[in-house]
Amino acid sequence: MTQANGRFPEGMSLLQQYFTDFTPAQIGQFEQLGPLYGEWNEKINVISRKDIDALYERHVLHSLSIAAVGNFAKGSTVIDIGTGGGFPGLPLAIFFPEVEFHLVDSIAKKLKVVEAIAQTIGLKNLSTQHTRAEEIKNRKFDFAVSRAVAPLKELWSWSKPLIHNRPRIAENELAPGLLCLKGGDLAAEIQASGTKPRQLPLTQLFPLPFFEEKFLIYVPR
Ligand code: SAM
Repeated sequence: MTQANGRFPEGMSLLQQYFTDFTPAQIGQFEQLGPLYGEWNEKINVISRKDIDALYERHVLHSLSIAAVGNFAKGSTVIDIGTGGGFPGLPLAIFFPEVEFHLVDSIAKKLKVVEAIAQTIGLKNLSTQHTRAEEIKNRKFDFAVSRAVAPLKELWSWSKPLIHNRPRIAENELAPGLLCLKGGDLAAEIQASGTKPRQLPLTQLFPLPFFEEKFLIYVPR
């Protein structure tokens, strides 16, 4: 099978324009996302209805921008803060099968969709938790990821205590920190956060109109 289904004809081929080394297992998992999110979104709205037909571009590829910029070392742990229907954590869990992903959200019913999809596609490296990020105690991760959840100031105040304070353990991995996906004019938001993040315009990775004005923000711990 090379295409997701009739509703998502470009899905897998779009991902493969930018990522060339998927295993057959990963291809199978990505291909199932279109039909599964289509089905679940009818029951529990986790993706805006106008976006569901563009799932692979606006949600899957957008999530994978994090994988395009840096490697999570085998065995490392990642928390997705405010994952909603599983973005960016679920596509990243497919991409990095040897990394443990913990997806949290303050709304339980959204996690039901994440759990059902993860189970159907056989994702073993993903767990979920119904909580507010700032209420998590006594747990640390190597990275936090997040998309469209809160201003950087809040996001960093929640993330920092959850991220291990350690150096890089492998040559090709990122140093622990927060990687978040944001849009629009971020200058004031970054200044208010008191952080000095690295910013990558996503059109440098994916030269498509949807990614204009969208950025990956990386705040090392
Ligand atoms: N990250 C997903 C995405 O990009 O599709 C969902 C984005 S949605 C706009 C924001 C999500 O963040 C909601 O599901 C909301 O419940 C969750 N959220 C907001 N504040 C949170 C907090 N303090 N802790 C955990 N989840 C939170």
